[in-house]
Amino acid sequence: MTIVVFGVDALDPDLVDTGEHPHLTLDAHRSIETIVSSSGGPSTHELWPTIITGLPPKEHGLVLDDGITWENPIIAAASSFADYIFPDSLRTRLGGWLLTNTDSDAFRTPATYYPSNGIETIFDGYESTAIGIPNYVVDTDTEDREHQLRRNMGELFERDPDATGGHRSADPVAFYEQCLEMTMIRTARIRRALRSRKYELVFGYTSGLDLIGHVSHSRPELQQRAYDEINEFVGELRSDLEEGDELVVVSDHGLQDGLHTEEAMIAATDPTIVEAVSSVIEVRAAVEAQLDQQDHTPTARRETDAVGNESEVREQLEDLGYM
Ligand SMILES: [Zn+2]
Repeated sequence: MTIVVFGVDALDPDLVDTGEHPHLTLDAHRSIETIVSSSGGPSTHELWPTIITGLPPKEHGLVLDDGITWENPIIAAASSFADYIFPDSLRTRLGGWLLTNTDSDAFRTPATYYPSNGIETIFDGYESTAIGIPNYVVDTDTEDREHQLRRNMGELFERDPDATGGHRSADPVAFYEQCLEMTMIRTARIRRALRSRKYELVFGYTSGLDLIGHVSHSRPELQQRAYDEINEFVGELRSDLEEGDELVVVSDHGLQDGLHTEEAMIAATDPTIVEAVSSVIEVRAAVEAQLDQQDHTPTARRETDAVGNESEVREQLEDLGYM
């Protein structure tokens, strides 16, 4: 049995409809609280670490200023005296600029950050796989098609302080195709991991809906179409679920008129998961409660199970005369 969590960046509870989007709303869904960063809005950089740890940004330590500004190699050289050079407001804006305009390591904090800082995540203690989670990078040397597309957005996604929402695209329709390709590739990777039957927990992520939302303020039909298509992708993933599997769809914030909104959402095939979550902080505990309560165990996880299996193996070896 497997629990699949699909993190859909910027999935907005106000823009889903149970009739039109049965797979984005599943058997139950609700709006949940999110957390505002120092930039004044909810930040993807801070919130996915919050969702996988159950900790507010201050406690997991990946906060916008530190995470973007100081770890970025472009200005790392200046960081020793940057406190004097950059006032806080400029540091935050610079962080936002770096996020969308550089090839360097946005959201690329390695997974090793967590154990080296004594922080537990949802992946600990389970047969689990993490696919593209921002700031939980399992293998820093590899990237998939979503990573590649994100690195090469060029004129299709540029920061523009004068545009509604602060971004513009030279060709929103071409950009739409790229964003949906990103989401399709991540949906496919999640489906492969589920179909492998190797995991208790498969947690994947896509930024496609967030990106198209940022530039579709003047083309709202593109954002609407993205919801309709992603609903279909999640429907295909849902068709891979077997008896006892559960699917959870979760977001870090909403997005309307080109701007992040301060409302996230959760949907699940098991309504008890939805009932247990009222904020991004509570996602981890609710998923773990589900993992612990049912047998989502392709291989032995708990010590009691391990001991049981070990004694069984011992018995068999004894029967065969090896011990
Ligand atoms: Zn986000």
